[in-house]
Amino acid sequence: MVLALVVIASAFALGVLLWSLVEYLLHRFAMHQLKGRGIMSREHLEHHVQASWGLSPIDVLSWAGLLVVGLAGWLPLGWWMAGRAAGIAFTAGWTAGYAAYEYLHASAHLHAPSGAYSGWLRRHHLHHHFGHPMVNHGVTTPLWDRLFGTLEAPTTVRIPRRLAPAWLLDPHGDVRPELRATYEVVGLDVVDERMRALDRARALASLAPPD
Ligand SMILES: [Zn+2]
Ligand SMILES: [Zn+2]
Repeated sequence: MVLALVVIASAFALGVLLWSLVEYLLHRFAMHQLKGRGIMSREHLEHHVQASWGLSPIDVLSWAGLLVVGLAGWLPLGWWMAGRAAGIAFTAGWTAGYAAYEYLHASAHLHAPSGAYSGWLRRHHLHHHFGHPMVNHGVTTPLWDRLFGTLEAPTTVRIPRRLAPAWLLDPHGDVRPELRATYEVVGLDVVDERMRALDRARALASLAPPD
């Protein structure tokens, strides 16, 4: 009985761990190393330059695909290798890891940090987002970045003013006092004409009827 519980808990932990490795590999290789080739990379690079958080239908489709891979691929494999309970636990671990990633990534962009881990996650991920896209590929854990030599722990995270998440700024557009030790916004107070033109072009492109 104890042995069975240990096997189930280990299978769950292994599922979580495997997800976190896939999270790292996909982000590093399929999204950044491809430099905009392929839909996944293009969508992700778009995410890097958007001030707001938004999920496109392509995002939802590709991530739903990962969920299906977990359920249709891992479940029978785990079942076959270590029995039904371990197979289910492994798949549950993978799915929980994936769901935690989606939730934590969205929260990092939408909500202010509320503790040591969420503070670390925002520093780590926003450093990657703004100016350092080839480091900090893991979102939920620094484990794989440390292992593969892509970890950077900045003392200050610099964020372009126009792309700063809403939780970072006070009503005057300055970094909130409690976050000033970690974050700095850079760039013009007023969004300049070139940026305005760029935003306009982007908005027009998304509005243009397909030909
Ligand atoms: Zn992000
Ligand atoms: Zn990225």
